[in-house]
Amino acid sequence: MREQSPPLTGVHRTRGPAETEALAARLAASLEPGDVVLISGELGAGKTTFVRGACRALGVTGRVTSPTFTIGRRYEGRVPVSHLDLYRLGDLAGEDPALLADYLGPDRIAFVEWPELAEGFVGADGGRLVARVRLAHAGGDARELTIAPATH
Ligand code: ADP
Ligand code: MG
Repeated sequence: MREQSPPLTGVHRTRGPAETEALAARLAASLEPGDVVLISGELGAGKTTFVRGACRALGVTGRVTSPTFTIGRRYEGRVPVSHLDLYRLGDLAGEDPALLADYLGPDRIAFVEWPELAEGFVGADGGRLVARVRLAHAGGDARELTIAPATH
């Protein structure tokens, strides 16, 4: 079994996107298939930048950009990786809940932007919530990132 908390738990400050990507890469190194990381923070805080850094570290080589016309993207890194952005989930409220199931599972690592729009959706078969990351503007290109272990 893994340690109870992910490494890097606590508050971090980055001075630019490259540092945010590097921090994400360090977190990614501790992840296993089935793990889900929730990433919150206002628009422009750096959520997608964080996911990009994590994806690179997991061997994803293609473009990593915010999903726009869909709630998520799936990438093939060294393990399958999902990137969900639930910002538009309000629009999708009438849709099939199985929509999320396509992106979560025991074989994939998943990163979820705007998780507050779907609290509780990570069910027993959907993956294992391992960390919550919150990004906040801290003046100019500085960002404060708070990494907390996630328990159901
Ligand atoms: P979000 O997904 O939260 O809306 P993005 O990652 O798409 O945010 O955009 C963040 C923007 O802020 C990018 O243009 C990025 O280059 C810029 N940026 C500046 N400083 C930082 C930083 N320290 N960490 C992350 N992004 C930063
Ligand atoms: Mg984004």
